[in-house]
Amino acid sequence: MPRAQGDQFLITLAYALQRGIQFVYQVEEGEVAVELIGQGEQQRLLLWEAAEGGTGVWERMVREPDSFAAIAREALRVCHFDPASGSEEPKWIGECAVACYDCLLSYSNQPHHPRIDRHLIRDFLLDLTHSEVVAGPETDPPGDHFERLLKMVDPASPLEREFLLYLREHGLRPPNTAQNRPSHDVAVQPDFYCERGGRPGICVFIDGAVHQEPEQAEHDRRVRDELEDHGFRIIAITGGQFAAGIRPNWDVFGGLPEEPKTDDVAVTASSTIEELLRRGESETLEFKSSLRLGVSSGTVEPVVEKSILKTVSAFLNSYKGGTLIIGVEDNGNILGCEYDFSAIGKKQDLDGYELHLRNLLNREFGSDSAPLVEIALHAIDYKHVCEVRVGPGRRPYTLIEQGKDGQKKQQLYIRTGNQTVTLGMEEALRYFADRWTGN
Ligand SMILES: [Zn+2]
Repeated sequence: MPRAQGDQFLITLAYALQRGIQFVYQVEEGEVAVELIGQGEQQRLLLWEAAEGGTGVWERMVREPDSFAAIAREALRVCHFDPASGSEEPKWIGECAVACYDCLLSYSNQPHHPRIDRHLIRDFLLDLTHSEVVAGPETDPPGDHFERLLKMVDPASPLEREFLLYLREHGLRPPNTAQNRPSHDVAVQPDFYCERGGRPGICVFIDGAVHQEPEQAEHDRRVRDELEDHGFRIIAITGGQFAAGIRPNWDVFGGLPEEPKTDDVAVTASSTIEELLRRGESETLEFKSSLRLGVSSGTVEPVVEKSILKTVSAFLNSYKGGTLIIGVEDNGNILGCEYDFSAIGKKQDLDGYELHLRNLLNREFGSDSAPLVEIALHAIDYKHVCEVRVGPGRRPYTLIEQGKDGQKKQQLYIRTGNQTVTLGMEEALRYFADRWTGN
């Protein structure tokens, strides 16, 4: 997509897909929300179910192979284009130049009206309706495609083969190809590659034990960062933990059934968390010992909770987001969520812990932050640690703090290196302009 019209394209596409979903799945405008997240090349569309309790639309979209094609056809029709040919419906020529209240404009998207132009997305939507035919059973039965991929994988890597067999066994979507080199500029061959309608695609790495060696891990990180800088999306699946790697990437592979839950709290396998712990703190990774209790005092210290909030706000304000792990001391010692149980109210268990944390974050950052913050509890060493994955926010998230002079001040925190720092007024304004207004 051309850079200059980047966000006009995405904004328009967001509303067109929203309308398409409304029509195909018979839901109200307010039940499917759209947001743009990220910046520049990294900018992505986030569509989410805003209806309380959900509408079941996403499950259906993921399971029905032609769902996107149907949504794209409906979106074209909404935009006054013929869904098959893409030609403009004659009765709208001269009636609707770029957008009108009969197609993409609504009272709720008024702030975006100047950026909505239905002509920008026509070709993309047409591709989307067409892509179904390419993947359809007439031209390429999924079975044959799997066979072809199985012949392409590195014979020295049994994990790649196992990954394909896992996808096939669970009725998931196969990648488009294997062992290709997606970018001339980056010397790396991902194990698998998924195309994304002409844009830089998705690189899938199936990492075996050798990738945990420090030198290899450092090399992996460098080339994958480079790929990301070129607009590619990276999915790394480690140690044969296929379900854990596939589940958050349901938009690529399709959905897996829900994981069995322990105590109604999602407790996932500990291998990925162990890897995070090994990696150590960085710009996008931070460890905190506890949620409420001071480690040496064993009593509630407001500064402890405050430092959790500072870190989460800094990740929300950053370009990439980041991950906070609570229950781990700086030296790597696992203190566990259990350490805070006595200080979280009546329900002194994992459920109560997650609820307390979720309420704390919602109260501080507002409910629009909720879709950006994922909380997962992981069993490790007979205890649990809490992983808080934070995506980049669409607006600044400030904290109100009392200064040394007793005055309340609004503070903007950001990440720099492995530190969370507050910005002075002038720096904050510069950061704001660069991060949220694109100036
Ligand atoms: Zn119109």
